[in-house]
Amino acid sequence: MSGNEPIFIAEAAVARGGDGPPQEFVVFMVVWGLLGLGSFLFFHFNRSAALKRQIWPAFNVGIGLIFGAFVYFIMGRAQPQVLYLMVPAVIFVSFLNIRTTRFCDSCGKTLYRQPIFSQKRFCPHCGSELH
Ligand SMILES: [Zn+2]
Repeated sequence: MSGNEPIFIAEAAVARGGDGPPQEFVVFMVVWGLLGLGSFLFFHFNRSAALKRQIWPAFNVGIGLIFGAFVYFIMGRAQPQVLYLMVPAVIFVSFLNIRTTRFCDSCGKTLYRQPIFSQKRFCPHCGSELH
């Protein structure tokens, strides 16, 4: 944590009369926003397919863990049965994200939402065959 903005926002929410979002929610939204922006910039502008291919699975697992922790803090403590639905859903979405994203070795672009089962694919940006 570099700044104290999340704490400030949470305090402001409490000061509004206690009806504001819980602190976990505010912290999560801030972290989620920063992660989303950072990952978008990185995966959009970085041109090293090898580096992105290396980071992508760990990044998605990390996102899944953060999301899971968030749902647990917001709902899971009161209703633990939520976890039975959430854990498989998070694993499934992370798996899909990892499998459907390719990285072009020629131009280095990140290619989202590619078909999982396909033998031969070509980069829509530069036309190179994907491996
Ligand atoms: Zn390409």
